[in-house]
Amino acid sequence: MDALDVIMNKDKIVPYFQPIISADTQLVIGYEVLARIELDDGVKSLGWFFKDHSIPEEYRQEVDEYVCHLAIEKFLSLKDDTKLFINVDMNEILATNGERLIKSLKSFELNGLLLSKIVIEFTEQDFKGDFSLLKHLLTYIQSLGVQIAIDDVGKAGSNLDQIAQLKPNIVKVDLEFLEGDAFPQLYRDVLYSLSLLTRKIGATLMFEGVGSFNQLNYAWRNGGRYYQGFYLSRPKPNFQKSDFCKMSLKKEFHHFIHYERKKIEAQFTLTEKLGLLLKNSLKKLKSLDSYDDVVMQIAKELDEVSFRVYICDHDGYQQSGNAVKDKNNWHLEEGSRFKNWSWRPYFLENIVRMNYERKGILSDLYTDIEKDEIIRTYSFPIDDRLFLFVDIPYNYLFEQDGLI
Ligand code: CA
Repeated sequence: MDALDVIMNKDKIVPYFQPIISADTQLVIGYEVLARIELDDGVKSLGWFFKDHSIPEEYRQEVDEYVCHLAIEKFLSLKDDTKLFINVDMNEILATNGERLIKSLKSFELNGLLLSKIVIEFTEQDFKGDFSLLKHLLTYIQSLGVQIAIDDVGKAGSNLDQIAQLKPNIVKVDLEFLEGDAFPQLYRDVLYSLSLLTRKIGATLMFEGVGSFNQLNYAWRNGGRYYQGFYLSRPKPNFQKSDFCKMSLKKEFHHFIHYERKKIEAQFTLTEKLGLLLKNSLKKLKSLDSYDDVVMQIAKELDEVSFRVYICDHDGYQQSGNAVKDKNNWHLEEGSRFKNWSWRPYFLENIVRMNYERKGILSDLYTDIEKDEIIRTYSFPIDDRLFLFVDIPYNYLFEQDGLI
């Protein structure tokens, strides 16, 4: 099929609607409009048609307006609170200073559509024009009550600080391009920053391309509030009952919560176990022991749990050398003595918390720079100015249930 076939068969082009489901109510909160062509040999997506810039712009615009018109007409018959997500190309919109878009928004409004029910989707990394003009237009559109969603965030080339400046209402991340259920660690970290960013700027994080149970779980674990994808529903020519997947989603959330709860419990169990071990080990120490003796003795007692032990004071200055396990032997490394670690994320917060609660803290999973592997650190207050740090290797965490 080529562009001409599309134009010749305009009467066979129809809007399809893919539901977007919210995690908090498990109900449909909106539909993304997707253009489809219903031919004798089946229904085909027209995504390629809008992305192909070798097709004259007026053709694409004509089809776009046609689909949009049909979609709005159908949407007006839907008497509930759902929103309609419409894709636009901001390069084309800004070529006319946004006038065409604003004109069509106003005409929707004349037809009885509340503009607060419209969400405009666009891809930030495809935008080639003047960023300040874009920002200006989006602010204006938002002032009309229309919401803005930035599409395809998280792929290579998306620019987090620009996204923050555009202040979208919704940030859409596509999970579809991830092969199967394998989620590379790097991508997890990008998503983690995205979930922090959306939280900071007051935007809603949404995952599309949810194609499997594991991807849904992933979206849920990464702060996604809205979900869209084949796993929930394919795009359809009609709207669906707003609670069509409420029961199944509730069941799946139950699995997720059960599993995460087990993981959190495993972390508490380890925290408690290490706390007891250290309390007993510290009792055996003599007041004459140097900091280096302390870390070496404790390291030997925690032989199976740790690969590195050291002591810092409450300002973060390391007071001992590093007790380090090499193969199966512990030895002392001098290199880090008197270095300061107060600049590390969470460091000071943890020191204050340990002083306040008088008990140890297990860190999140993070990559150790020297070892280049995922570890956790257990920290423990010796008294109110000395703190013990016990680094736990990946191997140990992996062998226990729920610690990775
Ligand atoms: Ca889209």
